[in-house]
Amino acid sequence: MPPTFYDIHCHAMNLSHPNLLAFIKGIGWRVAGMISIPGLNSLIALLCNKYLSRSLNLLSVMENDIANFFLIIEYYLKAAGTVENDRITIGGNSYETILLTPLLIDFGYKNIKTDTFYRIPSQKPIVEQTIDVFNGIKKYREYELIKKGEDDFEIEKRNSRTIFEIYPFMGINTRNYEEEKMVIMLDKYFGDYTGSRDELRKNMGRFDGNIDAMKSNFFSGIKFYPPIGFDPWPENDSSELSKLKRLYEYCCEKNIPLTAHCSDGGFVFDENKSDMFTSPERWEMALQAYPQLKLDIAHFGKQDKKRFLFMPRSDWQKKIIELINNYPHVYTDFSCLAFDIEYYKSLRDLIESQPQKQKEKLLQRILFGSDFMINLLWSDSYNDYLETFIKADSTVLKPEQKHLFCSTNPERFLFGK
Ligand SMILES: [Zn+2]
Repeated sequence: MPPTFYDIHCHAMNLSHPNLLAFIKGIGWRVAGMISIPGLNSLIALLCNKYLSRSLNLLSVMENDIANFFLIIEYYLKAAGTVENDRITIGGNSYETILLTPLLIDFGYKNIKTDTFYRIPSQKPIVEQTIDVFNGIKKYREYELIKKGEDDFEIEKRNSRTIFEIYPFMGINTRNYEEEKMVIMLDKYFGDYTGSRDELRKNMGRFDGNIDAMKSNFFSGIKFYPPIGFDPWPENDSSELSKLKRLYEYCCEKNIPLTAHCSDGGFVFDENKSDMFTSPERWEMALQAYPQLKLDIAHFGKQDKKRFLFMPRSDWQKKIIELINNYPHVYTDFSCLAFDIEYYKSLRDLIESQPQKQKEKLLQRILFGSDFMINLLWSDSYNDYLETFIKADSTVLKPEQKHLFCSTNPERFLFGK
């Protein structure tokens, strides 16, 4: 079987799914940051313009239903020739399938509120997002997007092979569930989880709209989003900690892959707590108790907030490398980071700067991720992000390293024992 290309970190959300208050707060600080720099008005205008057009691009994707979302990405990958004759070629390797694991986010956190008249915290049950995503996958399998003329597209019964295999990660914030309810939910979606791609493939597109009838092997993993109030190791909260111990034990036993957001940006509910919960140090505590956890600590721990406003920080990145060294199943991904060749150069330098043994380990644990559609705030399209990876030449990333990042490593992360 030809190798598969994996995008281990993307999202499939439309405008009804995210908590827009957290979303706007997340974008807001960036705009505020730009405005507070004195004497840079024209630059600000330029940046705002770029930012506005990127935001519109993002919103025009998010206005779609989830099926269209997959159909649109597929259409443009083919139209631009990134996918040619049903395959993408990267560094001499040819990939027939792109495997996506859209990460669902549990936005049901009750602390996200405003100081306005209707300050009732919103309820965002993950159920609706789940139904929409699985309906979307079903429709994606059955239909395709066809260009009929300039700006004229129609969705028709599919004649072509599907490029994507799509296996979502379930979003969970344990704070939204009582312990017993959480265990019931885990049993429903992961009770018979096997970690087998064949089992997932059998279920792909088989969702009949009835979430009560949904079983194991629809979700391929679990996603955590600490900035909106999930604490990986709530050491001072015994009932919450007890839930997490049950959860981690369950995941170790069944070898379920976990992905945790790890950058100081994103949807944030409380600046101080968010950073504390998101820090990889928090995961270190969980790993000390559960060293077998299979965990992707995402975004390579990117920290945008500078020390004393100007000194770049890399302590989260360093901690992730340390955890990769110390634990056999810890991974990281470069989603929402690799927007230009400069990023890949810095990644190369980071890898090269490690002692030989650590370097080898690190090469086995880095995963390709796009963070599509969130990444549209910094990138024009899925094509763009992927092409940057494809075009990085061998002085930057060797072909065998690319293959590790986009195929061998994510395959082991998702399906390895
Ligand atoms: Zn993400």
